[in-house]
Amino acid sequence: MWYNGGMSKTEDIVSLCKRRGFIFPGSEVYGGMAGTWDFGPLGVSLKRKIMDAWWKYFVEDREDIYGVDAAILMNPRTWVASGHVDTFNDPLVECKSCHGRFRADKLADGLSESVTTEEFLATGAKCPTCGKSDWGEIRKFNMMFSTHVGPVSDDKSIAYLRPETAQGIFTNYKNVVDTIYPSLPFGLAQQGKAFRNEISPRDYILRDRECSQMEIEYFVEPTTWEENFEKMLKAQHDFLENVIGLPADAIHEEEVAPEDRAHYSKRTVDIEFDYPNGREELMGLAYRTDFDLTNIARESGKSMEYRDKNTGEVFVPHVIEPSIGVERLMLAVLSAAYAEDEVDGSTRVVLRLPELLAPYKFCVSPLLKNKPELVAKAQEVYRDLRAKYGNVTWDDSGNIGKRYRKQDEIGTPKCVVIDFDTLEDGTVTVRDRDTAKQVRVKPEEL
Ligand SMILES: [Zn+2]
Repeated sequence: MWYNGGMSKTEDIVSLCKRRGFIFPGSEVYGGMAGTWDFGPLGVSLKRKIMDAWWKYFVEDREDIYGVDAAILMNPRTWVASGHVDTFNDPLVECKSCHGRFRADKLADGLSESVTTEEFLATGAKCPTCGKSDWGEIRKFNMMFSTHVGPVSDDKSIAYLRPETAQGIFTNYKNVVDTIYPSLPFGLAQQGKAFRNEISPRDYILRDRECSQMEIEYFVEPTTWEENFEKMLKAQHDFLENVIGLPADAIHEEEVAPEDRAHYSKRTVDIEFDYPNGREELMGLAYRTDFDLTNIARESGKSMEYRDKNTGEVFVPHVIEPSIGVERLMLAVLSAAYAEDEVDGSTRVVLRLPELLAPYKFCVSPLLKNKPELVAKAQEVYRDLRAKYGNVTWDDSGNIGKRYRKQDEIGTPKCVVIDFDTLEDGTVTVRDRDTAKQVRVKPEEL
């Protein structure tokens, strides 16, 4: 658990993220809002860099995947066709003694989401709030947030906040085929918010009620699904390990058993990550067959068929779907980067973020802030680096040792210090985050 137990690495990460402006509890000023988190200046920078890296790798650098950005509010028939109205449920159980409501499958080990009341009662699970074992029947709780569109609140005006970005892709499949004529296999990618009314949100940003997803629906000729599944799986590893820089030995594949797969999937591989509190799902790769397009065709009465330009063959493509939660990935990045080590005889906290993801590439400061000639020279270096790289920060607070510690904590790879030697020979001190070693170079060599 992210908040229980003694001081642990997870608590240290939560504390660092709050202290340095990465992640704040949602609506904190009003006492919070369960299952929501707000990203501060450094958090939004890290989050955007992760999302941009994904978009570049999967969309811009490939010739077969295109982007879409669909509305969050969709025609409610979307969620009938997708199966979410019927099957997007968690098992809810109420304690008759204190009226606390819980997800039944999380109150004892070895229970699945389809746990029955009999199976649940047989575990002898106790209420986490009052400690009694006096339970009502398990009922299905639909996790979609509902709202009303327009001024009349009745059954006809009901709409849902999307529980996944995938359906906004599927509903635009035909539009894209009819406008840019892509050849199979091709993919459509989307990034955006999705909402799930979790019964008990927990584990920090791992299981929140509002999250950002990055999903691709990769449309393939049905007989080629296996080879495309393997290629897409390989691409996920390449992105996570070689672009985002997660350690390969902390990433694991888990073949999901048929009874645990989502209702639409014929094969699913979960990619799990060794978070500080244990192994958890990081992302999923699912073979969704023609489930979605066939259901949309039935619900809408429109054809979802694809005509092969070479053979003239007509069929409904099958789909491979990599789906990743941005916050989960962000927490994996933070967990992998967080370290405590010893520098100059004292312990420091350091965030070893890959340069690509660090909120700032450089921190520039004058050795002393009360020497105008140092400040002027430092400002000049700062402006030049900013013009060149953009994400450069300025710090003239406290002493130089304190500045280094602060930049270590937020993951800035290099600190550039302007001192009296700079005025003599034009070189600056560059201090490396990971080794704490210092070298002197000319600013133009940075
Ligand atoms: Zn109770």
